[in-house]
Amino acid sequence: MREKELLKNFLGAVKQLGPVAKGSLCQFRRKCGKASCKKCSSGEGHLSYKLTFIQDGSTHTRFVGPTQVEAMRNAIASGRKLERLILEFGLDYLKQMKNEP
Ligand SMILES: [Zn+2]
Repeated sequence: MREKELLKNFLGAVKQLGPVAKGSLCQFRRKCGKASCKKCSSGEGHLSYKLTFIQDGSTHTRFVGPTQVEAMRNAIASGRKLERLILEFGLDYLKQMKNEP
């Protein structure tokens, strides 16, 4: 496969992924801070999500709102597919340069 064709196939596959993200969604319980909250006073708290990711060697987190959880879950799955595509592209590219079938 020629380099241009390889690149065209790769970019075509990337276009179909939609939004991408890297990291993992972690569930945790937080306190809302309202004195009258029964969930917090009972110790149950509120089920929440955060995105945990590594950037430049350090671990970071971002709060993910309840309406954003599903979209972020999909973006992370697409991000993993993108990493897979990059791996396969690199292997095919190397194979092509070596003139292997
Ligand atoms: Zn609360």
